[in-house]
Amino acid sequence: MTRKAFKYRLYPTKPQHKDLERTLALCRQLYNAALQERRDAYKKAGRTVGFYEQKRYLPEIRAELPGYKRMHSQVLQNVIQRVDKAFQGFFRRVKGGQKAGYPRFKGQGRYDSFTFPQAGTTGVKLQEGGKRVLIRGIGSVKVKLHRPLEGRLKTATVKREGEHGYIVFVCEVDPKPLPLSQEAIGIDLGTNPYFLVTSEGEKVEAPRYYQKAQGKLARKQRELSGKRKGSTRWRKTKKELAKLHRKIANQRKDFHHKLARRLVNRYGTIVHEDLNILGLARSRTAKGVQDAGWAEFLQILAYKAEEAGRRVVGVDPKHTSQDCPVCGHRERRPLWAREFTCPACGATLHRDVAAAINVLARARVSPQGYLAGAFGDGYGVGRPVRTEKPRSEEAGSRHRSFSTKRVSISSRNWLGSTFWRSGCW
Ligand SMILES: [Zn+2]
Repeated sequence: MTRKAFKYRLYPTKPQHKDLERTLALCRQLYNAALQERRDAYKKAGRTVGFYEQKRYLPEIRAELPGYKRMHSQVLQNVIQRVDKAFQGFFRRVKGGQKAGYPRFKGQGRYDSFTFPQAGTTGVKLQEGGKRVLIRGIGSVKVKLHRPLEGRLKTATVKREGEHGYIVFVCEVDPKPLPLSQEAIGIDLGTNPYFLVTSEGEKVEAPRYYQKAQGKLARKQRELSGKRKGSTRWRKTKKELAKLHRKIANQRKDFHHKLARRLVNRYGTIVHEDLNILGLARSRTAKGVQDAGWAEFLQILAYKAEEAGRRVVGVDPKHTSQDCPVCGHRERRPLWAREFTCPACGATLHRDVAAAINVLARARVSPQGYLAGAFGDGYGVGRPVRTEKPRSEEAGSRHRSFSTKRVSISSRNWLGSTFWRSGCW
């Protein structure tokens, strides 16, 4: 069972828009009040106030304050829950010895959504075949379902993003396994201008609008800093800047979704560099530039794969950009060298493709030995198999020794038998 989010644009009338804003303001007040109570109780009495205790006061609040009376009780409970979550996160970080900021009050405009936690049964309802949605406390709001809603509705969150309103439905959907695919691919999170490069030699460029938008963003930023803070013109520019940020984020997301969909549809196994390990090691190189984008992309890839019954594997990326995938010769190469010829075996390769092949090969380390990465089209036949000798890496030597013999082996068979059943991952 997986959860899937469906986000749709809302088109409220002016009065409805006001009601939405009012609801957000009331939620924010409640959030801050609940936070204050916990804070005071602890400070003054050393006492912890929990979720259930706070929840019990809600009927009283609703009885006394007419604004809250109009709102769905579960929306209010969800606000208390958010406070609770903030505290749980705080305590967890404190316990874990991490740097932990005390939960903060939400400033004006810093509270952007409210949630119906049991939307399947109460609070919201689609009307007129999905042209409108009835939101408790707001009324019947025009909505655009640009793609059909699937699965069982669990929660609904009304959200403000700039001047726009959205509703996000989270549904439980049955996984839709795709027909089995034995095809495996390795991906290297590419160096500019590539977003990623595959072990089959496909190079996916980061969309052009990235760069374009980056330029625009920088210009707007400069424009903003040239204006007096808080002035009308400053505020206007600031709004435009936020809008631009949102636009870029949406375009990026769209690109990620399409790319992930394509990979998942085709390959049964997708192997990538583990970002957690990649982390700092490369942050000072050109690779660091797109980091944020990759994390988001890999997340999308992972959940799409899960839904389709496919496999995504992260591997240790150490040395994947230095090893020759044919013979294993290890050498540091400057970042600007796209193509290289291996001094040990003479193979000419694209640096990122070679890295992707190495990434793929990493996922196949088996007890029997180390199978050299599959080569583009030569996938399968007569590829060299290396048996790794017990490693005696003397300091100073970057070379590994292999005994190489040529064996005819179909990687698909190998994938089918050893790979899946060996349980090495
Ligand atoms: Zn080589």
